[in-house]
Amino acid sequence: MMRGEMELELYIHIPFCVKKCLYCDFLSAPAGEETRERYVQALLSEITGRSREYRDRLVTSVFLGGGTPSLLTDGQMKRLLGTVYGSFFLAQDAEITVEANPGTVDLKKLTAYGEAGVNRLSIGLQSGDNGELAAIGRIHTWEQFLEAYSQARQAGFANINVDLMSTLPGQTTESYCGTLRKVLALDPPPEHISAYSLILEEGTVLYDRHQAGLLDLPDEDEDRRMYRETKRILEEAGYGRYEISNYARAGFECRHNCGYWQRRDYLGLGLGASSMTGNVRFQNGEELEHYLRDPLGCRKEENRLTVTEQMEEYMFLGLRLTEGVDTEGFREAFGCAPEEIYGAVIEKNIRDGLLRYRRGRGHLALTERGMDLANYVMAQFLA
Ligand code: SF4
Repeated sequence: MMRGEMELELYIHIPFCVKKCLYCDFLSAPAGEETRERYVQALLSEITGRSREYRDRLVTSVFLGGGTPSLLTDGQMKRLLGTVYGSFFLAQDAEITVEANPGTVDLKKLTAYGEAGVNRLSIGLQSGDNGELAAIGRIHTWEQFLEAYSQARQAGFANINVDLMSTLPGQTTESYCGTLRKVLALDPPPEHISAYSLILEEGTVLYDRHQAGLLDLPDEDEDRRMYRETKRILEEAGYGRYEISNYARAGFECRHNCGYWQRRDYLGLGLGASSMTGNVRFQNGEELEHYLRDPLGCRKEENRLTVTEQMEEYMFLGLRLTEGVDTEGFREAFGCAPEEIYGAVIEKNIRDGLLRYRRGRGHLALTERGMDLANYVMAQFLA
């Protein structure tokens, strides 16, 4: 049995955005107010219905992601979280995060979110340079971000993440570092910063532009420089890198995301949301009309993970964390040490300077060089 098996995380998907960003392949699209309200109604039915299977679970985090969850009105957020509280058994100190985009919030709304129980905001900034923001089709400017950030502080939020992106069209290491410095100069600066590089996903406008040779993207050397600068600048400013792309002040690591990396059970609610409970993966369908008509009946088929798949996940997800894979947890879950299954791979990567033990042999983690080559190392744990 996994440790803490009786705990559960909730993910709630809000698939609406003001306008599609040019790099985005998430399940999200613009929709009118009426559709959004119908969606909230459907979600409430799904939450109430689905929760009956999880009466024995302690919910430790709720994460409203999207899309743009901050498109929900004050009233919709209150009804949504009210239904969550009424349906699930929530831990006293549950982390409740909402993703918010500048341009979709104001002080009144943020205050209402706080009153509804939201205690963590994740603000999508991506870049502090208005030219870069326009090049990726974001709806907001740096100035609008500043306004949203200051309103979030005024509304009492004391746990804020800011999402940033590197390797954007037209971006240089200098402009990227400028963004980092501007974010660090906020008063007070955010408790958490996520920094991912742009990935060109097929089916997006930026992908097509790139294929047509129309995109001026930083080259690989520049990408590496930005990656290294992220770590240097954020660590100098007192943030700990606790996952490949995530930095936080001590105690502000995102509990919900740590749950994914530690393979805690999670239940996804809403359009297309995926779940993993009791080593069974399942997902809601992605057709909006179907979901609106029958939110409880649109679940796609379930997939029970084999023990080998569970072990692989345990290893490659755990390795994303700076503290690494909990080897004792592995033993408790599977009845053997990771070395008994992956001995040769572990030894080789230790020899190559890519893996190391921490806390005695309690954790197996990527070294700094291993973090740089994380995908290469993690792939070796897949059958
Ligand atoms: S706001 Fe987020 S989810 Fe919405 S289109 Fe942009 S990147 Fe995609």
